[in-house]
Amino acid sequence: MKKVSIIVPCYNEQEAIPYFYDEIVKIADNMKNNAVFELIFVNDGSKDETLKVLREYSKKDERANYISFSRNFGKEAAMLAGLKEASGDYIAIMDADLQDPPSLLPQMFDLLESGEYDCIGTRRVTRKGEPKIRSFFARLFYKIMNKISDTELVDGARDFRLMTRQMVDAILEMSEYNRFSKGIFGFVGFNIKWLEYENIERVAGQTKWSFRKLFLYALDGFTAFSTMPLIISTILGFVFCFISVILLVVSLINTFIFTNIPLLYITCLIFFVSGIQLVCIGIVGQYLAKAYLEVKHRPVYIVKERNEKVKTSL
Ligand code: UDP
Ligand code: MG
Repeated sequence: MKKVSIIVPCYNEQEAIPYFYDEIVKIADNMKNNAVFELIFVNDGSKDETLKVLREYSKKDERANYISFSRNFGKEAAMLAGLKEASGDYIAIMDADLQDPPSLLPQMFDLLESGEYDCIGTRRVTRKGEPKIRSFFARLFYKIMNKISDTELVDGARDFRLMTRQMVDAILEMSEYNRFSKGIFGFVGFNIKWLEYENIERVAGQTKWSFRKLFLYALDGFTAFSTMPLIISTILGFVFCFISVILLVVSLINTFIFTNIPLLYITCLIFFVSGIQLVCIGIVGQYLAKAYLEVKHRPVYIVKERNEKVKTSL
């Protein structure tokens, strides 16, 4: 008999949680000969009645546990909190909105049981129902990321995955403050089997990801798992020094032979070069800011409330 922990980050999910709960309980019943389930809901500072809903479920069902943050810390923090709490042999992360189909769990479980893999991941092969522009930028992000980082990121990979205890322990070893899970999962390695499925639209409520949030998240990914932008900015510096030498020679010839100084070109050039400089300083600043936050050793999340059954591992 294996224990399966299901971690569910929830931010304003009062409408979705009942659907999710019903589905997962059905699956747990189907699998009751092979596995016992433990649900760990993480209330990420919801502003709606999510916490109330979670309190009720935990009273009603001893498998249902919750921890509640003191404010919204983001999905990354919620996932980390769940992973720390989980006591299962196998551990899964699932969205509350049923976009991660619980019906895949038995298959994922069997694959892990075969002993060949350490993690069964899922990826969406379509992005149906998502704004076109969002899909375009998501694809672009994965392309660039895979070019500039050694850590492999799989396009369309969801956070929905079932992992062995060993892999989760490896993830918990990574104590960084700036957490970019897609990169962390890739970094720790292990044998991953990907299951593919078509995108499913959320069952209730609304997406918490605005374009702005996704853009910032992508920047986080770049700086957390690649130092390539720093190298590019250094190379750019060299290229511009080289160009300036050539331009100096050309200007000297120009002045002596034609005695005309192309003022406009020079102005353009000054603007361009100072623009590049600012970009490069910005890139350096990004890394510095990240390092600054790391050395502060702030907690990634703060727990305000939890049901009594959850073990205190903090
Ligand atoms: N989520 C969270 N904290 C946040 C944003 C989202 O815990 O700050 C949770 C949310 O409740 C959901 C999951 O992360 O269970 C995925 O969010 P969402 O469905 O809004 O993202 P999408 O599927 O649209 O990418
Ligand atoms: Mg969703």
